Amino acid sequence: MHHEDALEKHFRLIKQQKAALKKLGIETVLDLLYHFPTRYGEVLARKNIAELTKGDEVAVSGRLLKLEKTRAFRKKMSMTRAVLEDQSGKIRIVWFNQPYLAKMMHEGSLVELKGKVGEDKNGLYLANPTSGSTGSFVSAKGTLLGEKAGDGALEPIYSESRGVSSRWFYYALKKVLAANAHKEIEEYLPEAILKKYHLPSLSTALVWVHQPKDMGNAEAARKRFAFEEVFFIQLSRQKARQEYKTHETFPVKVADEAAAEFTKRFPFELTHSQNDAVHAILDDFCKGKPMTRLLEGDVGSGKTAVAAITAHAIVTSRPFDHAEGKLQDFGNLQAAIMAPTEILARQHFASFIDLFSHLPIQIGLITGSGCYKFPSKVHPGDATSISRSQLLKWVANGEIPIVVGTHALIQKHVKFKDLAYVVIDEQHRFGTMQRFELVRKDKRVPHLLSMTATPIPRTLALTIYGDLDLTLLSEMPKGRKPVATHIVPPQERTGAYEKAREELKEGRQVYVICPRIDEPDPEKERALLVKSVKEEAKRLKKDVFPEYAIEILHSKMKSKEREDVMQKFLNKEVQILVATSVIEVGVNVPNATVIIIEGAERFGLAQLHQLRGRVLRSTHQAYCYVFPDTKGAALARLHALRDANNGFELAELDLRLRGAGELSGKKQWGISDLGMEAIQNLKMVEAARAEAAALLDEDPVLAEHPLIAKHLTTEETHWE
Ligand code: ADP
Ligand code: MG
Repeated sequence: MHHEDALEKHFRLIKQQKAALKKLGIETVLDLLYHFPTRYGEVLARKNIAELTKGDEVAVSGRLLKLEKTRAFRKKMSMTRAVLEDQSGKIRIVWFNQPYLAKMMHEGSLVELKGKVGEDKNGLYLANPTSGSTGSFVSAKGTLLGEKAGDGALEPIYSESRGVSSRWFYYALKKVLAANAHKEIEEYLPEAILKKYHLPSLSTALVWVHQPKDMGNAEAARKRFAFEEVFFIQLSRQKARQEYKTHETFPVKVADEAAAEFTKRFPFELTHSQNDAVHAILDDFCKGKPMTRLLEGDVGSGKTAVAAITAHAIVTSRPFDHAEGKLQDFGNLQAAIMAPTEILARQHFASFIDLFSHLPIQIGLITGSGCYKFPSKVHPGDATSISRSQLLKWVANGEIPIVVGTHALIQKHVKFKDLAYVVIDEQHRFGTMQRFELVRKDKRVPHLLSMTATPIPRTLALTIYGDLDLTLLSEMPKGRKPVATHIVPPQERTGAYEKAREELKEGRQVYVICPRIDEPDPEKERALLVKSVKEEAKRLKKDVFPEYAIEILHSKMKSKEREDVMQKFLNKEVQILVATSVIEVGVNVPNATVIIIEGAERFGLAQLHQLRGRVLRSTHQAYCYVFPDTKGAALARLHALRDANNGFELAELDLRLRGAGELSGKKQWGISDLGMEAIQNLKMVEAARAEAAALLDEDPVLAEHPLIAKHLTTEETHWE
């Protein structure tokens, strides 16, 4: 068996299994080896049915009889019942809302079920047991890391999906490891690093992660893979940064008095954070190397002002005359401001006009649906629509120094004369590639400022933004009233709607956020309990707010449709916007003062905070009503949301609260669940960062490290 072989060469796979594996991205033996258990459980005691008592956590085997699928509790929940019989006796089985598990059961088949024995007036039963000899049941003591297991060996538990069970993975990997397929994979981490951090070799780690003898094995293996993931992300980002810094950039002569004069006209005083950010950027401009900086600040922290002041410094600077070896005494450098959506681009255009209108500086707007220029020749106080070709001409000859736009800005035919500064708002909407497409067009590269309102923990930022210097706007402008946040229990829902109605009567607007787009597939687990945008909008119109215009917004709508709805909301033609969490980041609707969040525990804390930021734009008091759909542990998190006002604090908390139970199985920020464990560990992140830097210092193009270079390219294609 070779690790590059397709799985089908060594395993007989039925159609369903093939589909499931494909969905998990597993095609080769190598992919299988890198499909790690999400956790480990202890092997459970096996008992005869007659021996069972209430509270036992057991595995029992027998024949499955009287299988029947029903619906319970006013059809809100699917339910499957059965009876399990062995030589010693019978026990009732019931599955709630697990149609997928229940479907795998067949009348009369022999099965092994695992679960906890319960008791009611009709006697003992097993509720929601899982099946299979290494099935997905984890005892209450089962834990991802940290605890020592009991006497029994550890059972690797893999995330299952329709078609492939945890048990299937267990046996498949047993076969692969027995055939020594893992031993041919060449170690790609440098020996010195393995030694220094006491990490197991690749082949040992692969055995330990799938077949650990004890928790120590499993932990060591996971530590290695977590380190490796962060290390390669660091390598990739730092390499990009290093390459960028080797380019020539534009020397900028910052006139301090001009900047002060410009800022003095603002209707507010800068916060300390804004001031610091401005100075960090202006300093960078003078260093002679292209800046790559990330400005991270909560919604409403005033990132636009920072962008405008620094852009002003650029466009009031002269280009450098290389023939003469000095600054020209005519002309000006140019700045481009890029936004992820047309609405945002238009808003930035308007903000820049506000701030620059007293100066003889022209501003252009390029979007997919039209181009504008400020000021208009005919009406100097206004912007005017102009043809794309005309605008491009003025951009190309440098007459228009500031250009705002969507990604239309980075299309090939947009040529600048002296583009020295690029500001990218909400950069996570752009892939790294797009970021660099813009800057590769000329030989001289511009200074780069990314701005984002998504608060992320420092360790995560250091990792995924390894190519950027970091500046935080940790302070909100003075006088901003915090959003009054209420966690609303079910019986107080009506009261919250009445509060929202009072605001609507005052002429304000309301957001309602739901976790889903459609009324969910009733077959799906717990599905009916989750609110969907479409159904909720209908319900609100019918039962709660019939007197107001309600529209919906979600990611499956075309971007044109989305922008239209957003525009209507902005124009106050629509009072209530029912949306998924995708509602345009950064869009400023100061008149919206209420946000209602349904199914709140389904969102991360940082995400909730960002959603709440939608209503922070206003000088009016704003309200956030949080409707959880369960009780219990999740509520503690929501209280943190109510009591904290700083997105960074919440982001850190969010990361720490990610328990083993919350593993998504998906990549967040392009990082696997395992990598996320590493992100919790500042020391590990710093070590990976330092090692990546040291390696690149010594070998910038990885000429001496071909295996690392190869691994890096394969990994990079996964991230983009
Ligand atoms: P964001 O960081 O979310 O992009 P904006 O730049 O849109 O925030 O700023 C939000 C609002 O706060 C704008 O109306 C802006 O004029 C205002 N603002 C920015 N800085 C300050 C400040 N220092 N004091 C008062 N208001 C400010
Ligand atoms: Mg903004």
